[in-house]
Amino acid sequence: MAELQTPAAPAAGEHTPAPAADGHAVAPADGEAAALLGRAWELCYLDPMAARAIGARLAAAGGAAAASGWLHVALVDLRLGPVDTGLDALARARAGFSADPHGPDRRGLALCDEAQAIALRRTGDYEGAAYLQAQIDARDDVQRDAMHAFLAANSRGITATLRGDQHTALRLLYAAADAAGRTGWLGPRLTALSNLGDTHMCLSNWEDARRLSEQALALARAAGAPQVVLTAALNLIVIHHAEGHFPQARAMTEFLLTHPELLPPGALQRNPLQLALGHLCAGEIDDALRYLDGDAVVDLGDGDGMTFWAWLKARCLLARHDAAGARALGERILAQRRPSDQPNDMMALYGALADACEQAGDAVAALSYLRRSHALYEELMGRGARARYIALEVSHELAQAKRERDLAVDSRRTAEDDRQRLAELNVALQAQIAETERLHGRLREQALRDPLTGLHNRRYLFEIAPGLMELTRRQAGLLCVVLIDLDHFKLLNDTYGHHAGDLVLQRFAALLTQMLRRSDVVCRHGGEEFVALMPDIDAEGAQAMLRRLLDAFQAQQAEVGRRRLPSCSFSAGIAVFPRHGSTLEQLLSRADRGLYAAKHRGRARIEVVQTGFGALG
Ligand code: GH3
Ligand code: MG
Ligand code: MG
Repeated sequence: MAELQTPAAPAAGEHTPAPAADGHAVAPADGEAAALLGRAWELCYLDPMAARAIGARLAAAGGAAAASGWLHVALVDLRLGPVDTGLDALARARAGFSADPHGPDRRGLALCDEAQAIALRRTGDYEGAAYLQAQIDARDDVQRDAMHAFLAANSRGITATLRGDQHTALRLLYAAADAAGRTGWLGPRLTALSNLGDTHMCLSNWEDARRLSEQALALARAAGAPQVVLTAALNLIVIHHAEGHFPQARAMTEFLLTHPELLPPGALQRNPLQLALGHLCAGEIDDALRYLDGDAVVDLGDGDGMTFWAWLKARCLLARHDAAGARALGERILAQRRPSDQPNDMMALYGALADACEQAGDAVAALSYLRRSHALYEELMGRGARARYIALEVSHELAQAKRERDLAVDSRRTAEDDRQRLAELNVALQAQIAETERLHGRLREQALRDPLTGLHNRRYLFEIAPGLMELTRRQAGLLCVVLIDLDHFKLLNDTYGHHAGDLVLQRFAALLTQMLRRSDVVCRHGGEEFVALMPDIDAEGAQAMLRRLLDAFQAQQAEVGRRRLPSCSFSAGIAVFPRHGSTLEQLLSRADRGLYAAKHRGRARIEVVQTGFGALG
């Protein structure tokens, strides 16, 4: 298992951020720095050296993104490179995040703590790493985004593996895989798949190990990630062999041998044992032995490699009927056994030894080795079954969590949609209200206007009059109420037609509007009668104004068709508020008396009603 899938470790010289050529690096603009940082996060598990280079550039440039730049340098060096430069970069990152002008950057500092735990693990202090990680989790004062969550879970998974708690590791690595999926980035996904596959393999849960390794291989081939292609393919040889699928193990070996361009340079030379296993599966003993006797095997540093090598070699010797050689080799390696040996390899070695003893005729020793092999087999089957169970349980939990997340997203979306719909409805409603008000206004206007002349009607007159009278009363002013009736209108209609009558009504209305003051209220009272309310004017003033109006009306010339209409006139009566009454009805009644007098006195006259009831003047 690896903290990450990575190309070869960088050369030592690559580890110090290079200052700009002139020694004065220019900090990138905020937008550019943010884009670079995003790219560094995307690459830090896919192409760590590229991520480190971005980090180094930001660190050297100074500015707001420098601390994050140092963090990227630290993360890569602490996982893959020299720990010293990693720790130095980490200290600088921490100082930068602490000195943020907007207050300590808590997310940055939390990531520094994660890097610190990786440093502890890297230096072999697994307990220290686990303790620090538990402390970070207990504090949990930072909302982790998907990448942060992946980094934390993956790192805790590796720590658990190294502490020998592989079942806990599995759960953490599944959480890492879930977070990796949410990052939308290939690097975390590949790393998670790879680490999960490794862990299942270590736990002898071949089924999940195979599925995950196949996924990792396909994804890595498509994305061109050589290290993951190599690891997944090598693992698949071991997995197929363990499942008894020998042709598939051989086919995977063939894939590696024929596609060196998909692998990191020199990869095959560095991994001879799996290739030997592939050949062994097909009974190709010469080919297998070529790998097992090669120079690379001499360098097998750890016990695992030695045990692996020993059982492969013993199997080859057995295939060559060299039972004594196989037993001698197996027992020599058994004597050097270390606690870290892979139980699977130990089981295979015991099995080879049992066969060797049997072929040599030592039935007692054979039985003893067989028992030991079988005991390990049972233990491994138990572990594998438990791992399989965890995989099922976790996938169920993850599916559940995903469902809940989807539901939450859905309901958030629904709430969002509802809000949106409500806002739209509101806008539509506002428009409708405005339209209704407009229509209402128009209707009201229509209800208060006379359609023929466009003047206000009687209804309007009665609505407006009380307010005008009240105002006049408060100002102790005067308000003249004038009733106008066109003279001999019936005759006009009868002689020239109704159309001519209408025309005269319209032209008189226009004249009224034009000649009276804007503050005067002019209405068509009905038929050929009009009413004018004239504020702030006395009877004489009103009378004078109406005389001018009468003159203008009489002077108007109109034609209907080819016929010229005769000159028209009107008669009017004036009543004055408050002198002649306190209500519009009273005042109109008094004005009507004036009008009656005017008609009586020969028409084309304006009469002011006299105070004395019934008296005309
Ligand atoms: P007087 O001088 O005494 O007022 O005589 P008059 O003929 O004007 O009075 P009368 O009340 O006898 O006739 C009014 C006429 O006005 C009767 C009616 O046909 C006419 N009239 C009422 N409304 C309209 C209208 O909207 N258009 C037209 N063309 N004529 C109308
Ligand atoms: Mg009349
Ligand atoms: Mg009339």
